[in-house]
Amino acid sequence: MSDDDILALDAKYIWHPFTQAATAAPPLHAVRGSGAMIQTADGKEYVDLVSSWWVNLHGHANPVIARAVAEQAATLEQAIFAEFTHDPAVRLAAKVCQQLPGDLDRVFYSDDGSTAVEVAMKMARQYWSNQGQNRQVYVGFDGGYHGDTVGAMSVGRSSGYFGAWENMLFPVEIAPFPTTWDGDDTIQAREAAALDALDAILDRNRDRIAALIIEPLIQGAAGMRMCRPDFLRAVAERAAQAGTLLILDEVMTGFGRTGASFACVKAGITPDMICLSKGLTGGFLPMAMTVTREFIYQAFLAPQVSRAFLHGHSYTANPLGCAAGLASLELLLGAQCQARIKGIEALHRQRLDHIARLDIVAHPRLCGTIAAFDLPGDGYGAEIGPMLKLQLRERGLLTRPMGNVMYVLPPYCMDDAALHHAWDIIDDVISKISGDAACCASRKSSGPWMTSSAMPSMP
Ligand SMILES: *Cc1c(COP(=O)(O)O)cnc(C)c1O
Repeated sequence: MSDDDILALDAKYIWHPFTQAATAAPPLHAVRGSGAMIQTADGKEYVDLVSSWWVNLHGHANPVIARAVAEQAATLEQAIFAEFTHDPAVRLAAKVCQQLPGDLDRVFYSDDGSTAVEVAMKMARQYWSNQGQNRQVYVGFDGGYHGDTVGAMSVGRSSGYFGAWENMLFPVEIAPFPTTWDGDDTIQAREAAALDALDAILDRNRDRIAALIIEPLIQGAAGMRMCRPDFLRAVAERAAQAGTLLILDEVMTGFGRTGASFACVKAGITPDMICLSKGLTGGFLPMAMTVTREFIYQAFLAPQVSRAFLHGHSYTANPLGCAAGLASLELLLGAQCQARIKGIEALHRQRLDHIARLDIVAHPRLCGTIAAFDLPGDGYGAEIGPMLKLQLRERGLLTRPMGNVMYVLPPYCMDDAALHHAWDIIDDVISKISGDAACCASRKSSGPWMTSSAMPSMP
């Protein structure tokens, strides 16, 4: 079929995610991928600087992972996981747990980031009810995003994406998230205020809190908002003191994104549960894990079936996903990939420091392989994002600025030359915008830091 035929069928039959089709440009027609590049039917190539919604680690159509999936598909494609176990599921679970701190040793498989969060929330609630405690309150953080299913939307309600479903969501307590950036000299005071507010929430809900849930170190969909490891450690201490559970949503931060294997490792904390997805299969297949500490699992063991966690998905622990996960993890732990992760962070550092010279660039920030900064305009409705995206696309870069937030989140396979080339283009395009006086009505000194009422448009 020709490019035009496919686009016509797309226009007739497909409903795209996070897209206002009435006004959006037609989608790009991808035909193949290789390394950080995605090639389209018209012969153009785009550098995937968003790792295809933060899932890709080792490049597109990575041959090692492709082979592992093909071999598994010809061996055992799927087996009902309530009756069977299988090599890929067991080996992947063991391998992930070996990378996690403490006794985070029990893996519950599901299908995507949202289900990993739903599972954690349901487990937390039942963990308490199995012990005769009725704990219904969840504590989330301002701007936090945890997925698009109803429970995940509820704890992520302050992200501002869910207006259409407000009346479906259950109430949660929302604590402040003290964001920080290069050269931020206000963070100590804001962190202290955020912890005071958290303390007040914990006091007010004593013995009623099922769990705290937080995106550790970086809130992704909120606009790559970063906090200090110190804050995360303080949150973990308070959760422990309050005698409640701490859930880390590492759906985005897991598998090397923050520079360490996991954000919890970087911060030196052990949560009670951790949610993993996105990078788990290197971006090949939808799959997720909720990993818990052993005492949580033990609280579900009893003669009565009703004490068990009666939850599951048709494709739980799909062998193809597990095979992809195993192959991806092996690549991730290899010396070559570890060196690239360090290389990307060092290169980002250099390029961020350079682009920060521009008048319209504010709040430059870096965590591992993720570099971000703000442009004029505040969050939702910022004109600059869509304009920048189109201009970069014309120059062969795939980016998705979130409102006025620009970020670079490349696959780890990108070498220094390719990444420098991408930054050259970004720097050039933003310099030209910076020189265009019309756009600079709001200068960096007056540009407001994003608040929960002014969130970026789409992740
Ligand atoms: C993307 C994301 C989710 C949701 O994952 P899906 O696979 O899109 O359901 C949850 N939490 C965080 C932190 C995410 O970035």
